[in-house]
Amino acid sequence: MNQNPIAIGIHGGCGTLEEELRNPDHWAEVRAALHASLQAAWRVLDGGGTALDAVEAAVVVMEDSEHFNAGHGAALNSAGDHELDAAIMDGSELRAGAVCAARTIRNPIRAARAVMEHSDCVLICGAAADQFAERCGMTPVPNSYFTTAQRRAALASLKARELAGTSAQASEAERHGTVGAVALDRAGNLAAATSTGGFNNKVPGRIGDSPIIGAGTYAANGVCAVSCTGQGEIFIRHVAAHEIAARLRYAGQGLEEATNAMIFNELSGHGIGAGVIALDAAGAVVAPFNTNAMARGWIGADGVAWVATHAQVHRAGG
Ligand code: ASP
Repeated sequence: MNQNPIAIGIHGGCGTLEEELRNPDHWAEVRAALHASLQAAWRVLDGGGTALDAVEAAVVVMEDSEHFNAGHGAALNSAGDHELDAAIMDGSELRAGAVCAARTIRNPIRAARAVMEHSDCVLICGAAADQFAERCGMTPVPNSYFTTAQRRAALASLKARELAGTSAQASEAERHGTVGAVALDRAGNLAAATSTGGFNNKVPGRIGDSPIIGAGTYAANGVCAVSCTGQGEIFIRHVAAHEIAARLRYAGQGLEEATNAMIFNELSGHGIGAGVIALDAAGAVVAPFNTNAMARGWIGADGVAWVATHAQVHRAGG
């Protein structure tokens, strides 16, 4: 019996460290975390579940992992606090929910979904987002729950660079990261989800593209699902995720052509690091990026999982 294809694609941000700065065991751990995220989503999709449940499941695993800039392990702002952004979009009805500058929500992607399902809003910010999540039954965590030694070190190094006037030379990895997922379910529904701590040393109250529907996150059935990573201000100005969908829908471009144009022409032209994970209605996944590395993974219709942090792509669990 022929079944409609299912697929999942994830990214762990285009602000990944240079390969030689960590030992192979570290990268194996990151790949294992990516694989766990893919598996969480695949269980949902393979069991006949929705793309929406799949992207949420994938992102929760990466939010809980210290290896990515989202949830536990998120970036610190210039005041030494975490302010988290997340969004989720259901391509079947163009429903969406998001939170930004949240401080006590352990899994911001769950709160984004609750905004979509249990409020009349698309985006709730700051303390109101924290309170909304609590009212929806999510137990708050102290802001320090998100802190890791790696993020403290990144903040200290960026502050030192600020003093020395060398901020422009900071690596992508020192600066930023994000996680995201896109999925296609058996019913043909597309969904996208993105979650981030944003930029290390960001100004308190700064919001990136991740929770802005159309900028960092977008999904429309029959077209594509997109989750972005890179300097959010530029993605917002280009309405990047929606622009990719528009290229497919109105310009007749394929997913690869549309995402390459966005990353390598439009966004790279601003001299920023940029990457995307995107999935079309037929289940094809692409993951272009212009930095040295982007954590990423996907499972297509054949059920085989692939994961990568740098150039080399590995078959996971094989
Ligand atoms: N897009 C995120 C932001 O600007 C950061 C990233 O993806 O690395 O907040």
